[in-house]
Amino acid sequence: MDREDVWQESDSFRRAREQANPLCAKCKGTGNYQYSTHGTPHFTICDLCCKHDQGFWLLEGNYGKDNGRWCCKAGCGFTKELNGP
Ligand SMILES: [Zn+2]
Ligand SMILES: [Zn+2]
Repeated sequence: MDREDVWQESDSFRRAREQANPLCAKCKGTGNYQYSTHGTPHFTICDLCCKHDQGFWLLEGNYGKDNGRWCCKAGCGFTKELNGP
């Protein structure tokens, strides 16, 4: 799967760090954490610290079971269903 512009790069990470909880067990206050997919390390925004205040975008296309859900624009990976208009 293409990763396209999932990251607004440093802006997102800087913002995430600024609003991170220093006591967060997941990111240790850095606002992002590392995980690996198939041995390739990635950094991603900590979804526990993310305020999800950047808006959401609709997942449609190749997102499998997540199609139709809304994904946090900050890039933390958080998704939700909108509860109607
Ligand atoms: Zn965190
Ligand atoms: Zn978020």
